[in-house]
Amino acid sequence: MAEASLENFIDEAEIEQALSRAAGAGSGRVREILTRAAEAKGLSLPEVAVLAEVSDPELLGELFRTAREVKERIYGRRLVLFAPLYISNLCANECLYCAFRARNRKVQRRSLTQDLIRREVEILVDQGQKRVLLVAGESYPREGFDYVLRSIETVYAVKKGRGEIRRLNVNVAPLEIEEFRRLKQAGIGTYQLFQETYHRPTYLAVHLSGKKRDFDWRLGAMDRAMQAGIDDVGIGVLFGLFDWRFEILALMQHARHLERRFGVGPHTISVPRLEPAVGSDMASHPPKPVSDVEFRKLVAILRLAVPYTGIILSTRESAKMRSETFALGVSQISAGSRTNPGGYSEQEIEQAAQFSLGDHRPLDEVIRDVAGLGYIPSFCTACYRLGRTGQDFMDLAKPGAIKAHCDPNALSTFQEYLLDYASPETRRVGELLIERALGDMAKPVAQAAQKMLERVRAGERDVYV
Ligand code: SAM
Ligand code: SF4
Repeated sequence: MAEASLENFIDEAEIEQALSRAAGAGSGRVREILTRAAEAKGLSLPEVAVLAEVSDPELLGELFRTAREVKERIYGRRLVLFAPLYISNLCANECLYCAFRARNRKVQRRSLTQDLIRREVEILVDQGQKRVLLVAGESYPREGFDYVLRSIETVYAVKKGRGEIRRLNVNVAPLEIEEFRRLKQAGIGTYQLFQETYHRPTYLAVHLSGKKRDFDWRLGAMDRAMQAGIDDVGIGVLFGLFDWRFEILALMQHARHLERRFGVGPHTISVPRLEPAVGSDMASHPPKPVSDVEFRKLVAILRLAVPYTGIILSTRESAKMRSETFALGVSQISAGSRTNPGGYSEQEIEQAAQFSLGDHRPLDEVIRDVAGLGYIPSFCTACYRLGRTGQDFMDLAKPGAIKAHCDPNALSTFQEYLLDYASPETRRVGELLIERALGDMAKPVAQAAQKMLERVRAGERDVYV
């Protein structure tokens, strides 16, 4: 692919045109698109634009219903859980919405030592977490980028009781190709980075200084990551900075670009909404707020547009919004999160946090709630550890074979959690859910799952297919 198209893959004119043409679409056109969307083969940019313009309550209801069906068909009732691990809030950038921005004096700065990171991870492991998202501001202590690599090593080295972290994803500043290679060698799962906004003028207005001000350096990060051999990448937008309809079309263009260039699109899309943050006026007054209805709508549209791409919702959303969006398309959530470095071991250092959390509940409570809603909490890390990443994952996912692997793996990791970490009440709710889920599975899959559950109950751990 020519270099020029790398720079031009966010084509604002194409987005504007799609949106203006979509405005006049009638209900017939919307229903036609929903019928196609129900086939779970994804949608084109103009089709996404038409769905973004839907406001009629009846059509909106049909959109939500179609998203629920596609979500259920592909992902069943599974929900993957993870916890963020903030290792440092040092930052050289001036992103107006973030508490970690360089000029903010209201936040206590710290980067965790390896000993402190170990302590944080031990706490997460003791809660039952198996998947961690490592997060840092865009400036490292003296060792530079090696600090991130050492921290990853520290996380994976922790063994506590019957647990350990089995997959570590990373959300750190964009890197050079060579650094991405080292990140891959360190054994990361997904490399995650949000463009924040794909709208250049807005991007420049909210990123005042530091390396992050360079829109193109950030936009090209996933290309460099993939060139370096990282094939699970996670993109995202910080909703509230610019018009959400523009942003989801731009997300589509980013996904389309990666798919064309590397044969595989993003592994996940994250949908953070701007939340209040200490020392940031913008965070409390989003320039383009996204209402709850619009937020549900954008999740539903993304689910239909890229059916096989995971959608990640963070702890930033309230428990109510989380349960509503699970049904519409969200496939991964964070739980029990702290967004300040050292936040798991020293809960009082809240003033070092990145933003306020919408959901403060501990993991056990989130799990009980999720299970009560009929969703199976999953700590599965099988694909990544069996090398089913990038194209291999998509090959497995697309024909629907995913269910034969993911459902049993979800149950076996959930069973582990219930035996090793759950409160008696959560265990009761969870065991009932496992029985119900087995009953809903196709017979051969249920039999395989049953065998795995028996191994876990007999004391084996980390059982997966
Ligand atoms: N420093 C790196 C960067 O900016 O990409 C990685 C870590 S940064 C803490 C992770 C993400 O937090 C950002 O990409 C941004 O989307 C999100 N974030 C920052 N301020 C936020 C706020 N007030 N509300 C919600 N999310 C926010
Ligand atoms: Fe720094 Fe990232 Fe926050 Fe920007 S969003 S101030 S780069 S931590």
